[in-house]
Amino acid sequence: MMKNTDWRNNKQLLDVQNLKTYYPVKGGFLRRKVAEVKAVDNISFTIKSGETFGLVGESGCGKSTVGRTILRLLQPTAGKIFFNGKDITHIRGRTLRRERKNFQMVFQDPYASLNPKQMVGDIISEPLRNYTGKRMKQLKTEVMELLTKVGLPKDAYYKYAHEFSGGQRQRIGIARSLALKPKLIIADEPVSALDVSVQSQVLNLLKELQHEFGLTYLFIAHDLSVVKHMSDRIGVMYLGNIVELADKKNLYRNPLHPYTQALISAIPEPDPRKKKERIVLEGDVPNPVHPPSGCPFHTRCPVAEEKCQQVKPILKEVKQGHQVACILYD
Ligand code: SF4
Repeated sequence: MMKNTDWRNNKQLLDVQNLKTYYPVKGGFLRRKVAEVKAVDNISFTIKSGETFGLVGESGCGKSTVGRTILRLLQPTAGKIFFNGKDITHIRGRTLRRERKNFQMVFQDPYASLNPKQMVGDIISEPLRNYTGKRMKQLKTEVMELLTKVGLPKDAYYKYAHEFSGGQRQRIGIARSLALKPKLIIADEPVSALDVSVQSQVLNLLKELQHEFGLTYLFIAHDLSVVKHMSDRIGVMYLGNIVELADKKNLYRNPLHPYTQALISAIPEPDPRKKKERIVLEGDVPNPVHPPSGCPFHTRCPVAEEKCQQVKPILKEVKQGHQVACILYD
């Protein structure tokens, strides 16, 4: 059994450098490109083997686009993605197919991602059938083992996804993502569609599996409590940018960016005797087709200064391992 407690000494598994993913906005009679959505706008981060890196931010901030671009479900506009030291930014065809075995995704909606016409055994064994030449008997043994690992009974093999609860369906999705023994799992809001009562069971399962299989996670979520529970280091995203990046302890105890401070102030305090001042952000997230000039957060920042409208702050290290993009720390 592999433990990931000392992931800090492990080697880098994922290295994302200056990644941009823009979507074209088409218009007019000829459906020509008239603008672009800067869904991911120049972000960089690394993940070590065995680590869980959380990406957090409001919906529409680009965090899911980051995950999909790394998986190469979306084509990056610029930047580089290195996986296990290999540049995978533009690989295609067979090379991409070969690499894809190493990174799998756990989706938000476990029902939509499972084929309702297939038995659970076929759903989980599908990646094995596609990627390995294993025989039916061997596939069945492996699927049975995976079912046990994710806490489902063996007879789940013969059932259909609709016969299971949301939490169980997510367990099926997790078993499927584990089938090829990937190194990296990108979990995109894996518990946000589940009842609160089963969320922690699924999160704990993901943690147990990480220890057992030495997995590395990119954990994407909008809920800061969930991200805190899961992550070793966290990047906070706003309008396609990472505005703060730090290890969990530093980020939650000493958030530096005004946006992170507002997000953390909104986490409910479990102890009713402790008073907590909530920072309420005015307005909505701006349209990413026309992002604000200067700091992308200046339209909502409670401590914005005049020059925040002109200068776009760069993410830089202000303490060891703690990076922030805000002129207050220049
Ligand atoms: Fe607020 Fe200015 Fe810092 Fe942006 S750069 S977060 S607007 S203080």
